[in-house]
Amino acid sequence: MTGTTHRLAGISAGMAAVEILQMNDLKIQTALLTGCIIGSLLPDIDNPQSTISYKVPCIRAIYSLLQKMIRIFADLLPGRKKEYVKSSIGHRGLTHSLFTAFALPALILGLGKIVSFQTHMLSLGLMLGLLSHILLDLFSGGIRLFLPFSPYNVKMARIKTGGALEWIIRIGFMMVLSYLTIESIKELHIIDSILEMIFSNPPSMYTPTLEEEILWSLW
Ligand SMILES: [Zn+2]
Repeated sequence: MTGTTHRLAGISAGMAAVEILQMNDLKIQTALLTGCIIGSLLPDIDNPQSTISYKVPCIRAIYSLLQKMIRIFADLLPGRKKEYVKSSIGHRGLTHSLFTAFALPALILGLGKIVSFQTHMLSLGLMLGLLSHILLDLFSGGIRLFLPFSPYNVKMARIKTGGALEWIIRIGFMMVLSYLTIESIKELHIIDSILEMIFSNPPSMYTPTLEEEILWSLW
């Protein structure tokens, strides 16, 4: 799947959480959705051609350095273990596992507590984004879902990246996202607030007609 489809899936997961958990605070929504977008792209950091590697080269550089260090460590291990560790850090390896989807947000949450920084929503968003990425990749060739505990490749389907079926999925996410955005705007009661601003404080110099007074009292 392409970065755009992964992003749409991550944002849709975040917007669904906003709707289900009734999060009306804009700061909370922003933190959650930021985590979702990062999480939806982050697993592909193991691929130099991916959207996140291209857009955030410093994260890619850190991951490459980490890969090199792990490979040096792996060379010290006996044959099969060495290959197991090396393949785990390759494309669709550990970054695409359930272990990372839960361990990384937990780590961010823990670090947030140490530095007294609010990371609850960011961590939740990160987890949702990571899970949305994993779910999509299960349908596009499969992933080693249970690394580092098992190398078994779990596959649901083989949807071609950039193919017609991915476009249908992308349009589906756009429709879900449009619906959730409209619902979210409705809950902000923006229209009610504008009408209240117009009608609740009529200018003191202005004397309303009887019809207007009835209208305001009924509003
Ligand atoms: Zn992926």
